[in-house]
Amino acid sequence: MRKQIKFQCMIDCSSLCCGGATILTLKELNRLYRFFPVTIGFRKIFPLNSDHKAYIEEIAIKFRNFYIIGDFVAGNRLKKRCQMLKNFLCSINSFKPLQCSVIPFSVTFPEELQNLVIAKKRQGAFKSCKGFHDDAKLVWDVEFTDKELRENFYKLRQNFIFQRSIMEKIFFKFENNPFLKKLMQSEEGLFEVPIISDFIDEICGFASIDKKEFIKVQKSLFIRELTVGGVKNSLFIDALNALESVKI
Ligand code: SF4
Ligand code: SF4
Repeated sequence: MRKQIKFQCMIDCSSLCCGGATILTLKELNRLYRFFPVTIGFRKIFPLNSDHKAYIEEIAIKFRNFYIIGDFVAGNRLKKRCQMLKNFLCSINSFKPLQCSVIPFSVTFPEELQNLVIAKKRQGAFKSCKGFHDDAKLVWDVEFTDKELRENFYKLRQNFIFQRSIMEKIFFKFENNPFLKKLMQSEEGLFEVPIISDFIDEICGFASIDKKEFIKVQKSLFIRELTVGGVKNSLFIDALNALESVKI
């Protein structure tokens, strides 16, 4: 199935794609940890074909008969809007996460399969996205035709490759967690965990962040976001406890 993709982002529908949380990579933590409370998310991926399998093997963890992608989750899933969204505009636009720069495309699929990503998204979360129209710029024709989009896509992929081994170590720490077992039984979904104390040193080291400062800033962000609409975010309570337990 070959189909060109024409896309031009329209800001007035940004509340659709700028939900409560976005994705960060280890290499981006340094410039973005002051803006978002950060946790870790694992997603299940079933390759569509042998090309997809070869592509995914470099960025994902092989687990049973599927793959797991690990990333950093920035923000609060209990909220409907990203905290950085102000008057339909991203207030950190010039250094927003790479993930936000490749939306609605997905780095978990190779460049040549992006038409399948878009077809699926347009049936779901991006059904009302106004960016796809005939007068929009041609951005994909079996490969990305938009230079900036292509660069961001491969930068993001490289970041996933870079963090793969630490994500694998963290993932296997949770192998027997009941919520992970639930994800294993479902078709798709997200298994989200706090940055546990065992890995703070390593993460801060790789990201060149001062550990003391990271803990101080993250604690205040988790406290600020702990309750949304009267509901306590239990993941954030765990994240706070994990930070409290780190010896400085
Ligand atoms: S056009 Fe699509 S990607 Fe752009 S802001 Fe609207 S919903 Fe988001
Ligand atoms: S960081 Fe900016 S682009 Fe990304 S979800 Fe938040 S408001 Fe949207």
